[in-house]
Amino acid sequence: REAQDKMPIYKGLENFKLLDKMGDGAFSNVYKAVDIRTGQRVAVKVVRKYELSASQAGDKHLNREFKKKPRVTERTNILKEVQIMRGINHPSIVKLLAFFESQEHYFLILELLEGGELFHQIVKLTYFSENLARHVILQVAHGIRYLHEERGVVHRDIKPENLLFDKIAIVPSKNSPTKQFEEEKEDEGEFIPGVGGGGIGRVKIADFGLSKVVWDEQTMTPCGTVGYTAPEIVKDERYSKSVDMWALGCVLYTLLCGFPPFYDESINVLTEKVARGHYTFLSPWWDTISASAKDLITHLLCVDPAQRYTIDEFLAHPWCNAAPAPAPPPT
Ligand code: ADP
Ligand code: MG
Repeated sequence: REAQDKMPIYKGLENFKLLDKMGDGAFSNVYKAVDIRTGQRVAVKVVRKYELSASQAGDKHLNREFKKKPRVTERTNILKEVQIMRGINHPSIVKLLAFFESQEHYFLILELLEGGELFHQIVKLTYFSENLARHVILQVAHGIRYLHEERGVVHRDIKPENLLFDKIAIVPSKNSPTKQFEEEKEDEGEFIPGVGGGGIGRVKIADFGLSKVVWDEQTMTPCGTVGYTAPEIVKDERYSKSVDMWALGCVLYTLLCGFPPFYDESINVLTEKVARGHYTFLSPWWDTISASAKDLITHLLCVDPAQRYTIDEFLAHPWCNAAPAPAPPPT
């Protein structure tokens, strides 16, 4: 109730009652909301059209004044995000239900995913067992396969914060990493069955704010070409898809051990590590993880994009097909 009192009121969003804030960005806020006309629970992503002037941006108590200068890049970006999402229909991808705008905001009405970010599940669980990691990563991979192969879309921002759980699946007790959790779920922690196998629910890809179409659906050729496609453009298209595969490798690595493959306090050092593709399977955390999982990661965290696995190569890898394999998402 208290939270509701603090919910902002957006002109143009009168048909929706905001319940809870779920996400916070530089230019967007995401709320849990209910469509008053239908009772449907949704997520609303509110994107501000105008920049706040620098002096006012941080101060809630000042009478804010918008610079009435549309953020042109933001405008084209948000419309691109919406256009890409409109063409998408897959169980591993967050659905866009509606889009509209007011004078000062854009509103994306999205399918509500109440399970929270994969990021938070990793933090809560410390790390995932190989079976649980497989269950999660295969759902993401099928979403990426659909984007890459059927829609010609590169997501470009695959990361645990943009991977959302459908339902709250696991509330672990203290000191209950997943490995233990799976074996002792009857008496360890509270277990809430999810939709999919393995107890943990469906995972969906969100946030198409940086995504890009690289494949023209009409002509079935790389974008902007009509048949006389130069090799560098064909390569370019393949390489741009490979950024998602690198990111998928980072997510898989993080799921299995609980920390990311590349990390440093200093952004410069971190950048250097990534550029060199310098990571290790750190002992003791990686000692008990299968050689097959490590082999798969090696083919994803591979500096040369031409050598890096494509999504089809990923899905064909033995680790992905090891039992117990979850059923592919229904289409
Ligand atoms: P940004 O461009 O600001 O990163 P996102 O689309 O990633 O915007 O949304 C920000 C955060 O809001 C996400 O990381 C997630 O926590 C939450 N969020 C976004 N979409 C949904 C949704 N459909 N259901 C539940 N939470 C969501
Ligand atoms: Mg995001």
